[in-house]
Order: sequence, then C-alpha cells, then structure tokens
Amino acid sequence: MQRILFSDTTIDERRWDLRIAGGRIVARIERSEGRLEPEAGEEIVSGGSLTPHLAEPHVHLDAALLGQRAPNRSGTLREGIRNWATLRESLTEADLIARGLRTAQMYTSWGTTRIRTHVDTGNLLAVQTLLALKEELAGRGITLQVVAFPQEGILRAPGRRAAWEQAVALGCDAVGAIPHLERTTEEGWRSVRLAFELAEAHGVAVDLHCDETDDPQSRNLEVVCAEALDRGFSGRVVAGHCTALHSYPNPHAAKVIELVAASGVQVVCNPLDNVVLQGRYDDYPRRRGLTRVDELWEAGACVGIGHDSVQDPWYRLGTASLLDAAYMLLHVGHLTGEDQMRRVFRTLHQDNHLPFGGPPELSPDQPARVLWWPHADAIELLRERPRPRVFGLPEAP
Ligand SMILES: [Zn+2]
Repeated sequence: MQRILFSDTTIDERRWDLRIAGGRIVARIERSEGRLEPEAGEEIVSGGSLTPHLAEPHVHLDAALLGQRAPNRSGTLREGIRNWATLRESLTEADLIARGLRTAQMYTSWGTTRIRTHVDTGNLLAVQTLLALKEELAGRGITLQVVAFPQEGILRAPGRRAAWEQAVALGCDAVGAIPHLERTTEEGWRSVRLAFELAEAHGVAVDLHCDETDDPQSRNLEVVCAEALDRGFSGRVVAGHCTALHSYPNPHAAKVIELVAASGVQVVCNPLDNVVLQGRYDDYPRRRGLTRVDELWEAGACVGIGHDSVQDPWYRLGTASLLDAAYMLLHVGHLTGEDQMRRVFRTLHQDNHLPFGGPPELSPDQPARVLWWPHADAIELLRERPRPRVFGLPEAP
C-alpha cells in the first residue's frame, strides 16, 4: 500500500508535513510546530503544494467531444444549438458511454473527480445512459451528478415539459431549466417556478442555465433567488452563466447581487464559453459576457467556475482542465489582483465542491484524495497550468 510523506508542502499558504498511508491521511504537522520524520520504505515528495481534488460544477457530457462531427462555422451559440439538435438525434448508448468515459478520464488527469453534468432532456436515452454512467464512474472514484436540462425550454413546444419531468423521475440529481430561452418573460419566470416545484416533489436540487444572454432585460436570476428564499432551498440552488448581470444597469445589478448573497444561490461562471459566445450581437465595443464575479464576491455571494464545454458544438477548445477556465476568468473578469488570483484558484478546490456537499478536508483520518502541485504559489500554478499528481483514486481495472 502506498505510503508517502509530503515534506514541507504548502496547504492554504502555510507549510506542512503530511503523511498518507493505506488510502488515508494519517498525520500532519505544521512546519512551525515540528516535522514528520521519514519512515522506511516511504516515498518522499518535497515542496510544492497540496489541495483536495477539484470539482467541476457545470459541463455537458452528452455533447462532449462532438464538436468535430458538426463544425460550428460561425462560432455562435445559435449555430451550436442548431448543430446539437441534429447530433442529438443520432446519439447511441455506446457512443454516449465512450465519450462520457473519455471525458471523465480527461477530467481526472487534471485532478477533477467530482463532475456535475447537464443532460439534454430532449433525448431520454442520453439521460438514462448518463445515469448509468454515474454508477460506472463511482467505481472509479469519480462522483457524477446529473442535471435534467431542457436545452430548448419546457414551454415552447408540446411534449418538452413531459420529457423533462420524465427525466427527473428517472433519478436526476437536480432539475435544470433555461428561462431566458422560453417564449416570453412571463413563461421564463413560470419555468423557474415549475423547476422549483419539480425539485421539491422529488427532493432534489435546482441548477438552471440562467440569463445566458447579453440582454439587460433578462431578469430571471432575481426570480430564482426569491424562489430559493421563499421555499427554503438555500444551498441547493445553482444559477449558471448569469451573463445578463454583466449588462444590467448598475443600480439593478446591485439589488440583484444583494439578493444572490442573501439567498445562498451559487452563481457558476463559465468563462471559456461565455467570452466567445456572448457579445455576438454587439458591434464595437464588444461586451465581455461574463457575470460580475468581483461584485458577487464583494457582496459575500458564492461563485463557482465551470468549464461548460469539452470540445462540444459550442466550444471546440475545451481541455477539461479547470485551470484553463480559471485562467480565462481572471483575465476577462479583471481578477488579476494577487488575492483575487489566489481566490480564483481556491475556488476550484473549495467553492466548486458546494453542489457536492462541500469541500473535502485534508485532515487526519480523511481519505487521501489529494492533489500534489509542483508549485507552492497558486499564482505560479495559474501561470503554468501544470498537471497535478493525483492521489486517492482506485487502481484502474
Ligand atoms: Zn451549460
């Protein structure tokens, strides 16, 4: 059984010795208090830093690795949705499993072992298959959560709401919605309320694609927060994208951000996709199309960082490394202050775990699910974006 002494390694900006053995953390001591002496037969890993595994709060495994099959000539969100609608018809179980496994392997190679995927409820085979994949991945030490996501809305055409409800009943972990894509503002709000009702009925979480548009009149996030507060859903609601918040008039943005913080709704920013998909109706100057992470943080709101697309019809360049998403966010979101950059990195192994029940602790008796990084400084890690050494996964079958 693997025994390793991490010697003079950085955890949360402090220096520690930490020992793992038999798949668990068995001892740790802060360097200012003392040190752990090496034991016979033990591997010693010196310096660098340790974090928990990373968590991915927002990706689409049903569409992952499909970008090449239907090239997005314009690079736009609308063409991506059109291409996906065609691809979705030809999905097979074997293809879904193969791509899901391959993408999950890409994630684990970059240190991410908790993954929340959306699955388009327009294809119930995809929903069933990803729910089956969840079992398969659990055996490999990977937690998969599945969100029932109605890509084309639930009220725009007959049958869509029923398919969405059926998908949730199959055993999804969260109810999705896409209120800004419904026909009218009112129907968008109705879809939000229906999502909460459905989640309540099944005792599951809510995770919406919320206001993924540059339209400053797209006002769904406030409804999501009000519903979360009124129904006591605090801590179980994620609002993804929220790019319209970027374009709200400042007084309205301030009000909504306060509401987000009060409601405990987590906003998940997806910087890789949104920086290229938003701003497409702008002439110059072009908006950046990311939600207001700095202001959300300042108000005490909780933010996650998602990758969203791993080589899918919307974004061909996804690597499944969350460091890439973080790197894009700190550039485009003007988060290059030293503390802001460290917070961006920390989000990947702390706040990104909130949809999964919270971040793991690196303390004695906990499973040794740790990542070792070659630098002590998070800013260096963001600069180089290296692969971590991943500990704590079962041996490959
Ligand atoms: Zn998405």
